Amino acid sequence: MNFAQAGQNGGGRGIRVSFEFFPPKSAEMEQSLWQAVARLAPLDPRFVSVTYGAGGSTRERTHATVKRILAETALTPAAHVTCVAATRAEVDAVVSGYVGAGVRHIVALRGDPPAGVGEKFAPHPEGYVNAADLVAGIRRIADFEVSVAAYPEKHPESLNVAADIDMLKAKVDAGASRAITQFFFDNELYFRFLDRVRASGIGIPIVPGILPVQNFKQTTNFAARAGATVPNWLAVRFDGLDDDPATRRLIAAAVAAEQVLGLADRGVTDFHFYTMNRADLVYAICHLLGVRPKHGARFPLTEGESVG
Ligand code: FAD
Repeated sequence: MNFAQAGQNGGGRGIRVSFEFFPPKSAEMEQSLWQAVARLAPLDPRFVSVTYGAGGSTRERTHATVKRILAETALTPAAHVTCVAATRAEVDAVVSGYVGAGVRHIVALRGDPPAGVGEKFAPHPEGYVNAADLVAGIRRIADFEVSVAAYPEKHPESLNVAADIDMLKAKVDAGASRAITQFFFDNELYFRFLDRVRASGIGIPIVPGILPVQNFKQTTNFAARAGATVPNWLAVRFDGLDDDPATRRLIAAAVAAEQVLGLADRGVTDFHFYTMNRADLVYAICHLLGVRPKHGARFPLTEGESVG
């Protein structure tokens, strides 16, 4: 698919998007989150997910954000839940709380070791041992739709891609029905991973996680922690633009557009966007994919608020 085709009929190709947000820490962050939700809601995403701090550090804020999405929008929320540094009973209480609130989709994650990425993970003695175990626990509580994480470049703790795919298979066997990938910038990595996943008999959708580069330095830091590669060509594209935010944004849009259109061209229909609680880049990329506002899907703004 090229740009012209995307503009004409991308929506007609069954492109479906989902958006990831994080729970805000301050009143200012709260405002940017809801502005982003308001801007992106009319694109009628399949779901919007809200991240969860490992060890429950954002438990209340994640829950409050998910509840507000349910109460004030027509969006379908997916609540992230991690099991690191928590007992099964604590995690189960969070999950049961979501049943009561009307949430039907959980993104089940182990979470990073409390000492930081790269440190050895040790499950809580009374906790779920990994994400597969967590998926099974969630499915015992209610008939949730469960999404899990996948890693085209393998998880940093993993010995190799094969071990990672074994873990993905365990998550599917436990009841996961969708995997969302860690972000990547080289589409070949995704397709190579997808081939291996399919060859191992895993049939669930492997939805690419797309990270628009809002801030190159921050992206490299995320990538280092996530075990994702930042290709040299990407660094070259942002080189020399530290003091030029306007050009950086144009480059970021071009880079992400090239990536999603490259994926769509080879048959990918579902995309998950790491929005970083900012809408415009993601909105523009969705537009290029042919995803247009759905009439009547507008997020109801409270008095005095404006979408900006
Ligand atoms: P698992 O699937 O349990 O394991 C990850 C990998 O470790 C496996 O693929 C496997 O290679 C290896 N491994 C683990 N156990 C074994 C074993 N017994 N034997 C062999 N290999 C093993 N983190 C948060 O804190 N909050 C979030 O909201 C959040 N959202 C995320 C959303 C997405 C889409 C992604 C991709 C990641 C997210 N993360 C989040 C990060 C995630 O918590 C970390 O990557 C974490 O280190 C691993 O979680 P997991 O669910 O992939 O773990």
